[in-house]
Amino acid sequence: MRTAWISYRDVAFMQQEAERAFPLETGGVLMGYWTKNNQDAVIRSVIGPGPKAKHERSSFAPDYEWQEMQIACIYKDSGRFFTYLGDWHSHPDGLSRLSLKDRITLWRIANYRQARIAHPIMVILAGPQWKIKLWRQDCMVLFDAFILPFIREIRVYQYCHQYKFL
Ligand SMILES: [Zn+2]
Repeated sequence: MRTAWISYRDVAFMQQEAERAFPLETGGVLMGYWTKNNQDAVIRSVIGPGPKAKHERSSFAPDYEWQEMQIACIYKDSGRFFTYLGDWHSHPDGLSRLSLKDRITLWRIANYRQARIAHPIMVILAGPQWKIKLWRQDCMVLFDAFILPFIREIRVYQYCHQYKFL
């Protein structure tokens, strides 16, 4: 069984940001670390869209420059321990499944050498309740353009308080 760990505080942060941007989409970056053998993901920090992000009804473009700065700060402040784990974004239309675009994004991250992310994760918050669902790219095989990457949903919701990880 695989588990992703995330604090109530980080969930609340994503939900509040999703609500703020509604009916437009918003999102950001997940940082933290993997346990041994990439078994469990421990999300320790959630970054928002940034001040210059562009929000649409079914897409959004983050403020990359701002996000890069946040990622670098969190990486440094954590003693170079928390790294990029994946992305999160809201689906104001209420669907928690991954769209085709989401799958392609995950596949791209998994195959982006510099990122060194073999198994990126993606958190979707489906409106208007903003329940969260977490997906993980679980395959490094190269796909034909017409074949969707295999994506496995993993168990989240082993919620815990952030201080337990300190
Ligand atoms: Zn999406």
